[in-house]
Amino acid sequence: MEPITRRDLLVRSGIVAGAAAAGALAAGAGEGPPRRKLKVVVAGAHPDDPESGCGGTMARLADLGHDVAALYLTRGEAGIRGKDHKEAAAVRTAEAKKACGVLKARPLFAGQTDGATEVTPARYDEFRKVLEAEAPQLVFTHWPIDAHRNHRAASLLVYDAWLQSGRKFALYYFEVLTGSQTQHFRPTHYVAITAVERRKRDACFAHESQNPAGFYARHEAMSRFRGMECGCGQAEAFAHHEQSPYEPLPG
Ligand SMILES: [Zn+2]
Repeated sequence: MEPITRRDLLVRSGIVAGAAAAGALAAGAGEGPPRRKLKVVVAGAHPDDPESGCGGTMARLADLGHDVAALYLTRGEAGIRGKDHKEAAAVRTAEAKKACGVLKARPLFAGQTDGATEVTPARYDEFRKVLEAEAPQLVFTHWPIDAHRNHRAASLLVYDAWLQSGRKFALYYFEVLTGSQTQHFRPTHYVAITAVERRKRDACFAHESQNPAGFYARHEAMSRFRGMECGCGQAEAFAHHEQSPYEPLPG
């Protein structure tokens, strides 16, 4: 009996097949607009989170003609040693805009403060309105079990907005610095990013204030491992909320 690989299991469960079908649906990338243009929001706590957790997938979705926005909960106010909040926010906002340019995404900012994010009834409502204004069909955010408070806050705010919307949009969770930040993450879907890895790298390296060589090396190791799991060079992994609508990801 032949050994069953993880890829076999994924194909049998329809995960890889579904992704392949999505790729087929979206065939013609670069040959005109997609058959159904999606509004996509990738919500992260800090400038560099959407890019490191989802940057390859953002590039692929944008290349397929979808409208992709990076929604940053904060402007990274607490993230540059020796700079006050205002100075750091200015630097990191500029870095986020540069990264979004690389990925062909729109930067959006949800107005909370790095290091002091809040999950309160008022903040739930505030964040829900930001997402409602975008009216996305597809949303990505942090996996909720994460060692970083701000990442957990972003995840919970998105989750509550999704509930309040009537579970209207497809909800996928991404991983960042798995092991030290994201924990207990089990992917359900993979997106091959080998062809766009350079752009993901450039988007991450746009965050010059964050030692990108350090954090990107760890994300590259993650994407190579996820690539091994799904049978391609490099991949990003996601966990789909099974109660959310199914919106296929690029194959
Ligand atoms: Zn972060």
